[in-house]
Amino acid sequence: ASAVAQPGSAAPLEVLHRVFGYDAFRGQQAAIIDQVVGGGDALVLMPTGGGKSLCYQVPALVRDGTGIVVSPLIALMQDQVDALEAVGVRAEFLNSTQDPDTRREVERAFVAGELDMLYLAPERLKLDSTKNLLDRGRISLFAIDEAHCVAQWGHDFRPDYLELSVLHQRWPDVPRIALTATATETTHREISARLELDDAAHFVADFDRPNIQYRIEAKDGPQQQLLRFIRSEHDGDAGIVYCLSRKSVEGTAEFLVKQGIAALPYHAGLDAGTRARNQSRFLREDGIVMVATIAFGMGIDKPDVRFVAHLDLPKSVEGYYQETGRAGRDGLPSTAWLAYGLQDVMQQRRMIDQSEGDAEHRRKLSAHLDAMLALCETVECRRVQLLGYFGQASTPCHNCDTCLTPPQAIDGTVPAQKLLSTVVRLKRERDQQFGAGQIIDILLGKTTPRITQNRHEQLATFGIGSELSEIEWRGVVRQLLAQGVLAVSPDGYGTLLITDAAAEVLSGTRPVRLRKEPERAARPARARSG
Ligand code: ADP
Ligand code: ZN
Repeated sequence: ASAVAQPGSAAPLEVLHRVFGYDAFRGQQAAIIDQVVGGGDALVLMPTGGGKSLCYQVPALVRDGTGIVVSPLIALMQDQVDALEAVGVRAEFLNSTQDPDTRREVERAFVAGELDMLYLAPERLKLDSTKNLLDRGRISLFAIDEAHCVAQWGHDFRPDYLELSVLHQRWPDVPRIALTATATETTHREISARLELDDAAHFVADFDRPNIQYRIEAKDGPQQQLLRFIRSEHDGDAGIVYCLSRKSVEGTAEFLVKQGIAALPYHAGLDAGTRARNQSRFLREDGIVMVATIAFGMGIDKPDVRFVAHLDLPKSVEGYYQETGRAGRDGLPSTAWLAYGLQDVMQQRRMIDQSEGDAEHRRKLSAHLDAMLALCETVECRRVQLLGYFGQASTPCHNCDTCLTPPQAIDGTVPAQKLLSTVVRLKRERDQQFGAGQIIDILLGKTTPRITQNRHEQLATFGIGSELSEIEWRGVVRQLLAQGVLAVSPDGYGTLLITDAAAEVLSGTRPVRLRKEPERAARPARARSG
């Protein structure tokens, strides 16, 4: 029952017009809503900005009873409820941040049938008190938002989500709709299995975000690169800059502010008040650049984010896709810009080696990283590669860096052999091992103190690599790491090691293809033709 939609009397389209003020459903929304209104289960894979919310909000208003929305985003529940109340929908939430009186009032309203929608954090469903409460009211549907959190294979696993199979067991007649913006085959299958969605209709939307221009470039003074990128293409625009650590979030935000850019930091180490303040300024003011860890962004609905920049390599393609997907929800041209370098690869390989968990877990992290590296090093269209990862075939897009400025694929066998034989020699000569910097200095024939101290000028490979510049050599190391020809020692010093594949390269049985970075001029996202 609802103040805005009398039971049984409101059709989905009418609710869409009257409550939400929109003219028509988009994409598969109508079909999804029909499925749930009819009492069936649905699994919805739709990119960020695709319009997932209406897929459960409309059925919750059309069907009798209260729609229960399970969401991990406690920090956003207030905003979501406010937005619904603003259009006359009776929505509330229950989470640990409320005082007991408020909670009791929400519970009373639910039991009395006075709510259209009730938001719950997944951990609440572990409590018997919550389950008993739900038994005392009338439920129209369960919506499981951010459903990929149930997938252990995915990049954002939350153990509390495993409990959600209880929904089907305890309330078998209530339709469930699970929604996510993550769409790899494996995650898709895992969501379906863990949530026991055997009879659900699956709705897989087109994952392409044609208005986002994807660009990935080699790191070379990342803060200055970022500054040039913002100034030349997104001056005064709202954007998000992702960094891996809290420290680099703060350093980068400070740097941008000094350069006159309205930047704010956001990470889990800031107190709740500061986080809430910065988030709300980002949402409400124009042209704020949020510098953040990945703690920021899930569920943030700001349509005019013009760019998402990554100053560190994301850990997975799923993460990259979700984070970049926060740009351009309004459909206008936007940029996804990533700077990545050798240190990123080394650091992430080291983090994987040192991570807790079993070999299986480390294999999973490695596979995620390898897919991300393959996207960075591809000479093909980024979008084709990205969509291919999500199982969708496409043709070159003309709106990514590799389409706009095609890199050359060059035969890198000889440079690779020079580099690998240096690694081998160093290992043979003495116990001490060396990282990429020293190896490149040797190839370039530099007489640094560290070279002379170790008598590296006497190595047969000293100075044989002058055909490439230092930055090009770093690119070679990076790509050999990405291709698994080189590895990083878990010693924490970034020592380079050769792998079995390296022996094949050295013997000439395995050719090496390398990506040669094209010269790139800054290219405004808005000036594109398509
Ligand atoms: P998602 O949860 O998939 O990221 P949202 O549900 O937040 O996407 O929707 C993204 C934006 O699109 C919102 O601003 C929403 O109001 C708008 N939207 C969704 N469906 C429609 C529609 N049928 N007509 C117009 N706007 C829509
Ligand atoms: Zn392309």
